[in-house]
Amino acid sequence: MINEEIQQQINSGKMLPLMEQFYTIQGEGFHTGKAAYFIRIGGCDVGCHWCDVKESWNASLHPPTSTDSIIENAKKHANTVVVTGGEPLMWSLDYITSKLQSLSIKTHIETSGAYPLSGNWDWICLSPKKTKLPLEGIYKEAHELKVIVSNNHDFKFAEEQAAKVKNTCELYLQPEWSKREKMMPLIVDFVMKYPKWKISLQTHKYLNIP
Ligand code: SF4
Repeated sequence: MINEEIQQQINSGKMLPLMEQFYTIQGEGFHTGKAAYFIRIGGCDVGCHWCDVKESWNASLHPPTSTDSIIENAKKHANTVVVTGGEPLMWSLDYITSKLQSLSIKTHIETSGAYPLSGNWDWICLSPKKTKLPLEGIYKEAHELKVIVSNNHDFKFAEEQAAKVKNTCELYLQPEWSKREKMMPLIVDFVMKYPKWKISLQTHKYLNIP
């Protein structure tokens, strides 16, 4: 049970239900290969059946943690922070991003877009999910659209989502990990046919790093 004072700190973004934090290499999407400090915040109700971080879903399992202490850790390591989850936009991210930016640390987010956008972002990777679609406002803010491909219908979904983002948005198709052998040849064909799309691989999984 969270007391009122902690709840207020969470509401103001000065505490976040932290699942894990680690320094690694961004494995996916536009910034693949870049060293970054990852902050994984608990809580998600989007319900992707193939989710590889289901432990993140129940926010109450992840202790409210001082945002300042997270920032202290981040600044020891990297000049880029990736905020991920779970669904990080379930929480107020204005405080953490303004503090990071005041330290000249780039702020990146990975989100399904299912909750209102908070925070100031140098890079927004929108990864929409059919089970809980993004709110309309985030499409024009996204720098990168990353659609996970697990079946044939996901190509149609990808095009529907791409029609909503701004035309400078980078477009990526990424095979769902457990279906990668089946879907990869189809993704290759699709990208060669529609070259506005690029392929994103979960290179951290091939490299065996977090
Ligand atoms: Fe998992 Fe992300 Fe889907 Fe949430 S949005 S269920 S964390 S893959």
